[in-house]
Amino acid sequence: MKIIDGKLVSSTIRNEIKENILNAERNYGKKFKLSVIIAGDDPASEIYVRNKEKACAEVGIMSETVHLPENVSQNEIESEILLRVNDDAVDGILVQLPLPEHLDKERILKLIPPEKDVDGFSDENTGKLALGKSDGLYPCTPHGIIKLLKYYDIPLAGKNAVIIGRSNIVGKPLALMLLSEDCTVTVCHSKTKNLEDHISRADILVTAVGKKWLVDGKNLKDGVVIVDAGINREDGKIYGDVNFDSASQKADYITPVPGGVGPMTITMLLYNTYLAGIRKTEK
Ligand code: NAD
Repeated sequence: MKIIDGKLVSSTIRNEIKENILNAERNYGKKFKLSVIIAGDDPASEIYVRNKEKACAEVGIMSETVHLPENVSQNEIESEILLRVNDDAVDGILVQLPLPEHLDKERILKLIPPEKDVDGFSDENTGKLALGKSDGLYPCTPHGIIKLLKYYDIPLAGKNAVIIGRSNIVGKPLALMLLSEDCTVTVCHSKTKNLEDHISRADILVTAVGKKWLVDGKNLKDGVVIVDAGINREDGKIYGDVNFDSASQKADYITPVPGGVGPMTITMLLYNTYLAGIRKTEK
């Protein structure tokens, strides 16, 4: 059994991004900038935003955080976003979710043009992913999962990939990505019947549910590859959706939680910001 080491893969990719940014600065005098808009004082969001700032600094991306109060009006937040939409120096715009409830999230997210949509959640980027076009920006967590599988040279073509979870940010885009890699993809969710039958057919099993230890070793194929995106907090500890000790008895490859998928999400955000900026520069 091999551990899929998200910290290692993440730091390898971050070094590549850093190198590419230095080259772009040398060749074009290009600087890269990410703007993050956050409204309210959700403690988890504040931690995420601080981590994003730190990661940007590490690879040489300038970052700005626009911190708006909980009671910010729809007009105010929209004009802050529009300022960045129209600023050529800003390569990527990210609105930290969740937003306070009184705000119209859909209207806010729609203001971000697809070429600055570094979360990859816009209709246009989702459409490009669905059509297999490579000139969009991909959602960070599923893209990070693909990078993990590729780093370890895990064969994908023809494999049965079973994804548990169908959210717009992980499960659904990952299904499209694995389809593009020629996997035979099954997407399971809360209404799926006989989940264990699907699990037992998986060559590659990805969980993105948010339920501690939903999956254990019981129904797994020998040699399965397991990628666990779940983050479940309990008594100050983080657990995955997969019971690692039991599942690792059957798996050839498995991600730990923490230290597997987690570090890849911000890494792919850095990658998208670089990509958005370099595409603009080389156009
Ligand atoms: P979500 O709540 O939007 O979706 C959960 C999915 O799980 C749904 O599609 C639901 O149908 C399915 N589900 C729920 N109970 C089920 C069950 N008993 N059997 C089968 N399917 C079931 O969640 P999300 O935003 O996709 O996040 C999923 C998990 O991934 C969470 O733990 C979240 O914290 C984590 N996550 C991690 C990262 C990261 O950076 N590592 C990023 C995003 C999400």
